[in-house]
Amino acid sequence: MESVLKRYFGYSQFRPYQKEIIQHILDGRDCLVVMATGSGKSLCYQIPPLLRRKTAVVISPLIALMQDQVMSLKQRGIKAEYLGSTQTHQTVYFVAESGVLDLLYMTPEKACSLSQSFWRKLLDSGISLFAVDEAHCISEWGHDFRKEYKQLHALRQYLLDIPFVGLTATATEKVRKDITNSLKMSNPYIAIGSFNRENLFYGVKSCHCTLSFVDALVGEISKHLAGGGSTIIYCTTIKDTEQVSCYMITMNSEHYANSPRTLTQYEICCLLCFILTINFRISAEMSLKIIYQSLQIFEALRNAKIKASMYHGQMGNKARQESHRLFTRDEVQVMVATVAFGMGIDKPNVRCVIHYGCPKSLESYYQESGRCGRDGLASICWLYYSRRDFTKADFYCGESNSVNHRKAIMESLMAAEKYCLLSTCRRKFLLQYFGEQVQFSSCGNCDVCLGSQRERDLSRESFLLLGCIHSSGGRWGLNLPIDILRGSRAKRIIENGFDKLPQHGLGKDYSPNWWKELGGVLLAHGTITVKKYLPRPVEFFHPCLFIFIYIYITII
Ligand code: ADP
Ligand code: ZN
Repeated sequence: MESVLKRYFGYSQFRPYQKEIIQHILDGRDCLVVMATGSGKSLCYQIPPLLRRKTAVVISPLIALMQDQVMSLKQRGIKAEYLGSTQTHQTVYFVAESGVLDLLYMTPEKACSLSQSFWRKLLDSGISLFAVDEAHCISEWGHDFRKEYKQLHALRQYLLDIPFVGLTATATEKVRKDITNSLKMSNPYIAIGSFNRENLFYGVKSCHCTLSFVDALVGEISKHLAGGGSTIIYCTTIKDTEQVSCYMITMNSEHYANSPRTLTQYEICCLLCFILTINFRISAEMSLKIIYQSLQIFEALRNAKIKASMYHGQMGNKARQESHRLFTRDEVQVMVATVAFGMGIDKPNVRCVIHYGCPKSLESYYQESGRCGRDGLASICWLYYSRRDFTKADFYCGESNSVNHRKAIMESLMAAEKYCLLSTCRRKFLLQYFGEQVQFSSCGNCDVCLGSQRERDLSRESFLLLGCIHSSGGRWGLNLPIDILRGSRAKRIIENGFDKLPQHGLGKDYSPNWWKELGGVLLAHGTITVKKYLPRPVEFFHPCLFIFIYIYITII
């Protein structure tokens, strides 16, 4: 084992767990490997085929990832190829089934669609293992569930005596169980590494508007760039339309800025607003907001002379590769990206990962923030959230019909919300979330432990807010009770007699936003719960209806 490690990879020692895992695979045992990003999981499935001289089949979710891996393996003198949906060269299939390859990568879709005769031929030539990378995609409880992953178990019927190896960087107990069950692993060897990345600082700030985010952002980034490191900004966590549009806009603004006649911001906004409203059927107001946000961020970076590039799933292949290239070669210092920029980024000197918006789960936060400090040097992870982020469960649930999946999405978002609102050590919370035993109560390297967040006794204020919610009947959301506390004499308050409540006007010392934050903390601690009310039925005899009927009759 050591000689293969040295010969092909140039390392003289195995990292924790690598040797045990490889040994178990060689013994024909199924394995589940749960180890942090950058801990060296890939080596666990790359070495057995070199020792056994039999092909290892590796399932990987992304073509780009496979391309990178295959290229770097080839450079080391290892025979590797990949089969993706775009792979049409018959020679690759022919070479693959003849068993001369050390590693054969494929997407889950490809694996399930390959013919029985392909598998039989490959089996006859010899398969050393069947590895499923990013195995958390198998589980509905995971943060990145994919249907195709769930169908991989069907391959067990062809690959009876082949060791199955599931690898992932994040898996809670539930997800681990799902992986072993779904891949029908029998008595698997389970290796769970520590999730503690001691060199990473974790911090959270609340942020109500893009402008304040941009101010903080430019300051934070400038600090890190002096040392020559780079930064990734996960600009927003909203998956589809919002992300897509956000980056489309920033791309376009750059594009237009370079064209002979520079369009004004206003023109770009109008144009994009129109496109977005038509194409994505989101409200005009919403699309305008997104446009302004991204323009502000991008412009602020430019004004501060920070070179930024961007990356998202909807960009063309070429543009994406170019963006990636600029970032890896340090030609741009900041990557503003959606979560599409992620898997397989092996850049050692990322000094800072900033999230603009609360991620949809702690699993994804851990993975995304974990892309900094891979070289072991001190690095920083800031998360900026707004209370609105916590109300996006419905959006994330999107098209999912599965009750379990929807429940999992809600639970994940709630855990992320709790993380944002913590008043105890963030690292401890993260590690415990991933099921790790933690001995310390304070890590000394998060905003809470370093005291940038001071603890204060807010029982009086909490009691005031709870009392006010209760006295006003508990059915007005947060805004009305806060208005009562702040002594508002709005019509709604007078009409309902809320100005006579003992709490009326007692909370003038704090701003509405401050009270909303407190409400958010109470929500996260379960002191307040939110009940969903059904939307009000459409009023059939809305005054507008008469006007329409009138106009209609007049026209006729
Ligand atoms: P993961 O898949 O867990 O994210 P990788 O397999 O990509 O991590 O490994 C991360 C980095 O660590 C790679 O650059 C790899 O070459 C390096 N690495 C892996 N194993 C060892 C080892 N035993 N000694 C030194 N470096 C290693
Ligand atoms: Zn801490």
